Amino acid sequence: MLYCTKCQTICEDSTRTCPGCKRSRGLRPIKGEDEVFFMKVHEIEAAEIEALFDEKAIRCRMEPVKGGFATSVYDPEFLPTDKNIFVEYQDLERANAVMAAEAEDPEPETDGEEDMPRRKRMVIQTVSIIAFMILVMLMVLAADSVANWLKDLLMS
Ligand SMILES: [Zn+2]
Repeated sequence: MLYCTKCQTICEDSTRTCPGCKRSRGLRPIKGEDEVFFMKVHEIEAAEIEALFDEKAIRCRMEPVKGGFATSVYDPEFLPTDKNIFVEYQDLERANAVMAAEAEDPEPETDGEEDMPRRKRMVIQTVSIIAFMILVMLMVLAADSVANWLKDLLMS
């Protein structure tokens, strides 16, 4: 495997130029301690992944995307709080395995947290539908009595 020192990515031995920056000057055979670009994540995910990697003793480094500056206010792809994660090449395979396991088996406690608001939302929805129906019935009754009152007034 080759390593591009400019964009910190790995490429096949057969490539002559880096697929990221289209340069050949930064390419060299990869070493175990080289920091490889792993993924770009949001601030909250970054904290979770950092804790996860720390637990598994995977050497990683977080860095604000583009030095913490957004290229454009309207570019939702890059928030100033986003982080680039770099993982040492010797730990890259384990990092991939940890992420794959995490994707397959989400923490059970988040399920319970999500279940409660959903049930609560359903109750609120049901209550508001019933309240709306009562309101409509009251309005119909009120309109009816006003109509009757007018009729009585005109008849007499
Ligand atoms: Zn490159």
